[in-house]
Amino acid sequence: MKGTLFVVSGPSGVGKTSIINSIIDKIDNVVFSVSCTTRPPRPGEVDGVDYFFVTEEKFLEMVQNSEFLEWAKVHGNLYGTPKKFVFENIDKGNKIILDIDVQGALQVKKNYDDAVFIFVAPPSYQVLKDRLLKRGTESPEALLKRLNNAKWELSKMIEFDYLIVNDDLEKSIQIMKSIIIGESYRTKRVLTEELIKNLFKGVSDR
Ligand code: 5GP
Repeated sequence: MKGTLFVVSGPSGVGKTSIINSIIDKIDNVVFSVSCTTRPPRPGEVDGVDYFFVTEEKFLEMVQNSEFLEWAKVHGNLYGTPKKFVFENIDKGNKIILDIDVQGALQVKKNYDDAVFIFVAPPSYQVLKDRLLKRGTESPEALLKRLNNAKWELSKMIEFDYLIVNDDLEKSIQIMKSIIIGESYRTKRVLTEELIKNLFKGVSDR
């Protein structure tokens, strides 16, 4: 059985990463796709775990070699999803989670529409602003850029299959878990040729 690609998007600071981190170990066969970025690491971030931190030169070389499933410039830095890892895991039957921006999600939608698209929204614009301020990881200019981008990103949420309003982290984690498990039981994902053969073997026409 083929695996499933889950694309999780939403404005910076909305809590996507916290939700994803909490479910990674709690559902079988779930893997996280580590992106490449030209953004410098934040304190505590680990190369190969949070991101593959690469130079702009290396990133553009990877673009040239068609190594990305999607890539985009987000808040002034380049981010991309390595294609090989995603397709290897689809072939293994795993559930792969992408934490990417809306531009990237829309690219995936064009090229691989069998994916499941989940948008995480804040309960209000003010809450998003407060969360980003509290996180304190951005300079004032970077913060402004992220808030401006959020307006455009929010205008695209209708393109997604699921919408999680993150007003309570625990509740959002449960919703994301339900979506991932529920999606795995869609008939098109469960019904294999082998199952059909077994179900109809020996059944008479009468
Ligand atoms: P941050 O710099 O805060 O880690 O991420 C900034 C934004 O870039 C987030 O919205 C995150 O989801 C997005 N992002 C992370 N990896 C990728 C990627 O591979 N592709 C795209 N398009 N966006 C990404």
